[in-house]
Amino acid sequence: MRIAIVGAGLAGLSCADELTGAGHHVVLFDKGRGPGGRMSTRRIKTVLGEVSVDHGAPYFTVRDSQFRAAVGGWEQQGLVQQWPAGGIDSWVGVPNMNAVVKNLASRHETHWNTFVQGLAQEGGQWRIATDTGLHGPFETLIVATPAEQAVPLLSLHDLAMARTASLAWSKPCWVGAFIFAEALDTTAHFLRDRGPMALAICNRIKPQRADPECWVVHANTDWSMTHLEAPAAEVAQNLLAALLEALALPQAAPIEVMAHRWRYARPPEGACETQWNPSIALGACGDWQLGPRAECAWLSGRALARTALKSWRAPVAVLRA
Ligand SMILES: Cc1cc2nc3c(=O)[nH]c(=O)nc-3n(C[C@H](O)[C@H](O)[C@H](O)COP(=O)(O)OP(=O)(O)OC[C@H]3O[C@@H](n4cnc5c(N)ncnc54)[C@H](O)[C@@H]3O)c2cc1C
Repeated sequence: MRIAIVGAGLAGLSCADELTGAGHHVVLFDKGRGPGGRMSTRRIKTVLGEVSVDHGAPYFTVRDSQFRAAVGGWEQQGLVQQWPAGGIDSWVGVPNMNAVVKNLASRHETHWNTFVQGLAQEGGQWRIATDTGLHGPFETLIVATPAEQAVPLLSLHDLAMARTASLAWSKPCWVGAFIFAEALDTTAHFLRDRGPMALAICNRIKPQRADPECWVVHANTDWSMTHLEAPAAEVAQNLLAALLEALALPQAAPIEVMAHRWRYARPPEGACETQWNPSIALGACGDWQLGPRAECAWLSGRALARTALKSWRAPVAVLRA
């Protein structure tokens, strides 16, 4: 079966892995320039060379036993390392946060830089309209984007699924990154809840990071919402000021600053059923179905694939009976 997945984040890729493992051909489409989704790493040019910045999830936690088994496999491949500084069961990608998604994506046919504008179904076949042209036909279509971006794609085909997604509105998060030519004169490396900052992390304390001193600051939800439409340059200066004040280093001057707005950073805690419509072979997955964590994204993608595979096997079982 040819299966299309819109969104090559952790959810879409865990779904793809499971479906490919069952012998199906999966093609992924993602509007991003490269692998990561909300576990992205950005390369920033500085006078000291390029610096990698984990500007999405700074780390992830592992609580579910199935996810733990997958993370164990990633550890053996050298893609992740435990990171006690983040708390119990915290892990980071190595050498960057996007390592896992990059590795998973390399196993599948993935079209980057491809924004999916709409889905069409005719005669049991799906076609995908993108900014690079029409793709298809596919027998199955899976939407693995944040809920807000899934709603317009789903609503023409399955209103109930779209309605479920529309209830999972995410909170935004502004993230600032500040690169310094030299290590800052401080013993602090990880701050939580200081002024507008939910957290501030010095990249150097993560394993296998060799770049110059880089601090990543996540604004808290209230501040991010209040400044949602502010220009990135203004946000970067505000978050830099908050960081330097918290470190008591008002004179420190970065060589490069950037701010990134995650409009749909964190969906609510939740638990909706796996979104699968067997009559039109349409499904949806993503962290918004379980909770705002990488683990939830991975679990949701896998659950959807297993539900779809089970529904395809069911008629055969009935015939045999
Ligand atoms: C600032 C921040 C901090 C976080 N902190 C943590 C943390 O501490 N611990 C933790 O576990 N998790 C954290 N998370 C959450 C974690 O990153 C997510 O739960 C997880 O990455 C979501 O994966 P996903 O596959 O569901 O979605 P995504 O990673 O968002 O993937 C969806 C993909 O869909 C693509 N897409 C969307 N619309 C379209 C379209 N129309 N056409 C084509 N492609 C499209 C996007 O480009 C994206 O790559 C954080 C996230 C952010 C942003």
